[in-house]
Amino acid sequence: MQGELKIEETTQRKPKPDTANLSFGVYMTDHMFTMDYDKGQGWHDAKIVPYGPIPMDPAAKVFHYGQTIFEGMKAYTGPDGSIRLFRPEKNFERFNRSCRRMSIPEIDEAFVLNALKELIKLDRGWVPSAPNTSLYIRPFVIATENHLGANPSIRYKMMIILSPVGAYYAEGLNPVRIHVETRDVRAVAGGVGEAKTAGNYAASMQAQENAYGAGYSQVLWLDGVHRRYVEEVGSMNVFFRIGNRIVTPSLSGSILNGITRDSSIHMLRDFGIEVEERPITIDELYACAEDGTLLEAFGTGTAAVVSPIGEIGWNGKTVKIGGGETGEWTSRLYEELTSLQRGDTEDRFGWTQ
Ligand code: PMP
Repeated sequence: MQGELKIEETTQRKPKPDTANLSFGVYMTDHMFTMDYDKGQGWHDAKIVPYGPIPMDPAAKVFHYGQTIFEGMKAYTGPDGSIRLFRPEKNFERFNRSCRRMSIPEIDEAFVLNALKELIKLDRGWVPSAPNTSLYIRPFVIATENHLGANPSIRYKMMIILSPVGAYYAEGLNPVRIHVETRDVRAVAGGVGEAKTAGNYAASMQAQENAYGAGYSQVLWLDGVHRRYVEEVGSMNVFFRIGNRIVTPSLSGSILNGITRDSSIHMLRDFGIEVEERPITIDELYACAEDGTLLEAFGTGTAAVVSPIGEIGWNGKTVKIGGGETGEWTSRLYEELTSLQRGDTEDRFGWTQ
């Protein structure tokens, strides 16, 4: 299919940023992976080249019809100095599921994972090791055929770029205030909410901006039909501790199947905690907040890993969760998941490579 991976090393390595102020997704490393697709030929010309701009035709379909998908994953430097990827095969599986939904030809997951490892080896000096830092990995595909017809492109480019990152949210593990969105919806079953495609993120920005403007950090999304069922928080999956169990919305078709979500469910069950995947209404959450059984809430995702929620505002009514402090189970999950990802603790689930 794609043939052999070619590697063209840069002759001009860039200066590296100070790891104390990385923030998220600002700096890119020295190299990138690219691969092209042409109908009839399949994926070809897989190569690692110096990082830089790519020429694009203004009529390329991605600009007009949004035929594109992406992934987000991380590599960590461990205490032994080795670099670990966290469940990368899951990201490439989801990459191909997103491709299918968006009529994009699938990639060879094993070949691309291997190319990613080669890319990281070449840019290993960019994988930060300071606490709370990591190398963010962004694989994506864009439709490159220059033709304004609204049908699937016959040409694509797949790329992987790398970015050393610090904490995603300035708040770190401090609880954030979230706003329950009642006007916009992020996704509906049968739509593209299960795919990691650009339009989902563009569609969420208006509500996100309004929430910021009202003093909230994130939006809590409700389902698009009943406007009652809780779906996700910002671009994270969401979990609640109600009494002595954890509940998280079941994968309904409009929720992204998060890899941190899956890992959290496994890990919480391994702690001996009961985890329920089921529909949860916002009314139920407010009732639990009122009777004192809503004890903790948090979001999960690759970028922030675990992000505590301290307060929820819905239709002008605000409830505090856990007295606005980070809960015990939230902290434990964050500590154990991040330690496993960095390689500080034994990988008892076999999740790292
Ligand atoms: N929901 C959405 C909409 C997301 O973009 C993400 C980030 N990929 C997540 C949930 C969390 O998924 P993951 O744990 O795989 O990063």
